[in-house]
Amino acid sequence: MKFDLAYCLSLDDKLSIYDVRDLNFDETVAFDSAKEQFQCPNDACRVAFDAANVLGTFNAKNVNYVRTPHFKNIPSTRHIEGCPYVSLKTPASGLETEGGETDDGPEEHFPSELLLTRREYVRKPSSPTVVADVLRDEREPSAASHVEHPSRDSAPDKTSVFAHPVECFVSNFADRELLKRMPLKIGEHTAPYGSFFKKIEYLLDNKGLIYWGKIKEIKDYTQSFRIDFEAKVWFKQPGEAKKKPYSVNVYLSKKLIDNYRKRKAFLEEIKHAIESDAPLYCFFYGVTPELKQVPSKKNSEQTFGVFSANIENLDHFIIREAPGLAGQ
Ligand SMILES: [Zn+2]
Repeated sequence: MKFDLAYCLSLDDKLSIYDVRDLNFDETVAFDSAKEQFQCPNDACRVAFDAANVLGTFNAKNVNYVRTPHFKNIPSTRHIEGCPYVSLKTPASGLETEGGETDDGPEEHFPSELLLTRREYVRKPSSPTVVADVLRDEREPSAASHVEHPSRDSAPDKTSVFAHPVECFVSNFADRELLKRMPLKIGEHTAPYGSFFKKIEYLLDNKGLIYWGKIKEIKDYTQSFRIDFEAKVWFKQPGEAKKKPYSVNVYLSKKLIDNYRKRKAFLEEIKHAIESDAPLYCFFYGVTPELKQVPSKKNSEQTFGVFSANIENLDHFIIREAPGLAGQ
């Protein structure tokens, strides 16, 4: 069984790997997954061992990841008998290496809801450097002293990190039946993953979905970046006899990026995207591109129609490689 969550010792809370990535790149929070200790999310299993019994992470700090991020058992990780997180795939001999990664594969844990309000984290003691020791001391005398967190919105089936449902969609794209079966809720709208994710060319079908498409080009302007999609929207204007193809794009204001809590990671991501020869895909939620008339470059008196939107929240916007979507 793969890890849906792992217990983070210093935050005294269970995090998904997507929470960990979000914290790693958040410049307003002091957090570095390489220095944190993660343990089995099974409370009974965790309290049976000392704090040195930890898990590893994969792709927790790689901005432009291709393979699915996850927690993993490392050769020294122990679990109690019957713990569902004992991975049968992990060799007991301790031969596992980064190159011989065994827990890799599609994302198995589909969040049923994307929460639009970000999750808040509170470190218990004020000084992060002593956290681990304090908690270790507290834990050692009695396993029974562990206090269970009440269930809350950070429960395993909900997330506030957009990358999580996107990874579910991308890494399971070949399994259409699974994507039809798994439900996703955002705000008031619930739909299976397969229909909540809408190809950009069909954006007229329904508003308020997660739109995605292959990127044709990214333009770097003074005030903004413009993402052009390959696919076009076929649309019949009132008074016209038949449908015509229209380009689709989204704008990212540089002011918005400058004020973003993950500014550095975001700029790294978009710079990589501009220079990359690999096919890239863009996913966004929160705005629906609409038909706008823009002046023609060749003749400023002429205008042409384009479906366009300004991205309003960078937390709900992703550019990434997605090998599973090749040909889409
Ligand atoms: Zn365990």
